[in-house]
Amino acid sequence: MTDVLVLGGGPAGAAAAIALARGGARVTLVEREAAAREKVCGEFLGPDAARLLEGLGLPLPGLGALPIGAARLAAGRHEAGWDLPFQAWSLPRAVLDEALLAAASEAGARVLRGRAVSAAARDGEGWSARLSDGAVLRGAALVLATGKHELRGHARRAPGGMVGLKLPLRLAAPMPEEVLLLPFAGGYAGFQPRAGGGANLCCALDAAGREARDPAALLARVSGGSALAARLLRGAEPLATRPLAVAGVPYGFRHRDTAGEVAPYRIGDQFAVIPSLAGDGVAMALAGGAEAAAAILSGRPATAFHAALDRRLGRPMRWAGLLAGLLERAPGTLALAAGLSPALARAAASRTRLPGI
Ligand SMILES: Cc1cc2nc3c(=O)[nH]c(=O)nc-3n(C[C@H](O)[C@H](O)[C@H](O)COP(=O)(O)OP(=O)(O)OC[C@H]3O[C@@H](n4cnc5c(N)ncnc54)[C@H](O)[C@@H]3O)c2cc1C
Repeated sequence: MTDVLVLGGGPAGAAAAIALARGGARVTLVEREAAAREKVCGEFLGPDAARLLEGLGLPLPGLGALPIGAARLAAGRHEAGWDLPFQAWSLPRAVLDEALLAAASEAGARVLRGRAVSAAARDGEGWSARLSDGAVLRGAALVLATGKHELRGHARRAPGGMVGLKLPLRLAAPMPEEVLLLPFAGGYAGFQPRAGGGANLCCALDAAGREARDPAALLARVSGGSALAARLLRGAEPLATRPLAVAGVPYGFRHRDTAGEVAPYRIGDQFAVIPSLAGDGVAMALAGGAEAAAAILSGRPATAFHAALDRRLGRPMRWAGLLAGLLERAPGTLALAAGLSPALARAAASRTRLPGI
């Protein structure tokens, strides 16, 4: 029996566990992976993520993150580049997630790794979570932070979804310290240099066929979208035998409580899924984790916490949805507009950030 059970040790769950433990709560976090590993994520971190990490004692330069100061959009023959209105960063998720879980342990949270939760349910006045090895944990409060993965009995009611693919690459030509947005038929890619060398190609596709299994097929599909992509990806060497994949990503999902239900505290992708490559899912996950901890420590119920978080995420969710839609449906027009007015591109980039951080 503990005060708080946190299910999932990504940015959301780890941030919640750190803040809860620092606030004096007894907290147990369960993470199914034994060691942090690559995740389907573009690894672009904006100033909101940077400030939240700094607040947790994890400044991005100290973790070895690579600074990103500019963005470029290429569609067909059109290309536009602009300076970002803020300092952004690139950091491998395995590095970020490992640092966050280490900080949770140091803060005093009990961190169980390599153990998966199979179900969680109300148990008297509190909650119980069953692990796949049969163990049962109990807590007065439950934080649901399993990210892209559904937990039995608590699945997100979200239709459809896109396929996310990630492929690390070694490039033939040097990569500029920019984030590139590369739309192509049926999807778009984010492409940026990686701390430690090489580059990270991360794509959202309406549907994936061979691209999900065959790096060459993925590179060909992205290259077909623009002259810039074709030029940069020529001679690129995949650093994995197949892309890392996740299906059914419900972009635009926002959790709604059912009236009368005693809900767990949902955070990160379990609360809302911002369209990637325009928004900042990691910042939302970190902020949600910190705010859920504050709510639990002050006795605020999950429904009130969810309503406040939903208001906070409204603006970035709307802007990221708009930009991702334009990127898919009218990439050439978007590139032309960004080329004509870099100020407009900078304003749009600022609108996807979390307010008040
Ligand atoms: C294609 C794509 C590109 C993206 N690019 C970016 C980007 O560039 N920048 C950005 O900020 N965001 C990006 N995102 C979004 C970002 O990856 C997520 O918003 C973020 O990871 C959410 O954090 P989280 O902690 O909620 O979930 P996750 O990071 O998914 O972490 C959840 C954790 O829970 C664990 N878990 C799951 N099920 C169980 C279980 N049953 N028992 C125990 N543990 C469990 C998992 O192993 C995992 O470690 C991208 C997403 C996609 C799909």
